[in-house]
Amino acid sequence: MAKTIDGRALAKGLRAEIAAGVSELRARTGVTPALAVILVGDNPASISYVTAKEKACAEAGIVSHETRLDASCGEDALLQTIAGFNEDPSVHGILVQLPLPRGFDERKVIDAISPEKDVDGFTPVNVGRMLIGEECFLPCTPFGILKMLDFAGVGTDGANVVVVGRSNIVGKPVAALLSRREANATVTLCHTGTRDLASFTRRADIVIVATGRAGTLTGDMLKPGAVVIDVGVNRVEDATSPRGYSLKGDSDFESCARVASAITPVPGGVGPMTITMLLWNTLESARRAAR
Ligand code: NDP
Repeated sequence: MAKTIDGRALAKGLRAEIAAGVSELRARTGVTPALAVILVGDNPASISYVTAKEKACAEAGIVSHETRLDASCGEDALLQTIAGFNEDPSVHGILVQLPLPRGFDERKVIDAISPEKDVDGFTPVNVGRMLIGEECFLPCTPFGILKMLDFAGVGTDGANVVVVGRSNIVGKPVAALLSRREANATVTLCHTGTRDLASFTRRADIVIVATGRAGTLTGDMLKPGAVVIDVGVNRVEDATSPRGYSLKGDSDFESCARVASAITPVPGGVGPMTITMLLWNTLESARRAAR
């Protein structure tokens, strides 16, 4: 049976480190890290993500400036809000919760965030810097995955890694980071155009699955002893739960855990690490501003 990689425990340790870093920075320079958290509309999942991020900021001693905009506010109002935070020297990070409601051009909105405050690591400048190995903010989920692999003692040097999913926020950046010399993995990036996905995953030492489809990866698709990093968060109907649904990853946990050597659970795996790396990047941005 696979070992469970406990994202909550790792996140707890790192958040304590971040809180200590925040106190140290404030005592030494008078600077308190601050994150602007912008939510447009009332998507329930987005509200719960934003609430979790604000709570995590408060626990780490990071100030969060909460800005809630109505879905009808219009793109210009959102761009002006971002411009205000770009100009405000007391704000070190800007986060716009995605997805945005219909009618907003997500790319244009992200591009409006100053790269120096782009603690999500989504702007083209940060993505470019990441690709060529310059100092940048790494996108939080891929960054968290690297930390988890390290924490679990999973070496990537020479490993065959299969990433399933090619989104800009998870699949592509995690594939790029693991291909860098520091990580030194051989990476295959799979997607819906991949013919016979199992033929790729069965050769992998590490499978990272980020499709947003429960059950994408099953135990019969794994090599014995492989490591599974499950990024997915899916609401699956569940009559036994008071909410009527339960959260599942993109892998079938039971069958994968029988074949893998280690696996991340959902919930309690990658999710807590994503928020933790957001705090990490915000502290790092404040440190740079205080230099
Ligand atoms: P996207 O929907 O943007 O991308 C999904 C990708 O998966 C696409 O590239 C798609 O391929 C590919 N895909 C979908 N189905 C299959 C399949 N059956 N076989 C192979 N490839 C497939 O998703 P995100 O990357 O934004 O998110 C993925 C999941 O991770 C979601 O459940 C999301 O909620 C979760 N997530 C969790 C985070 C966390 O902190 N835990 C953070 C971010 C996301 P194609 O390009 O061909 O369409």
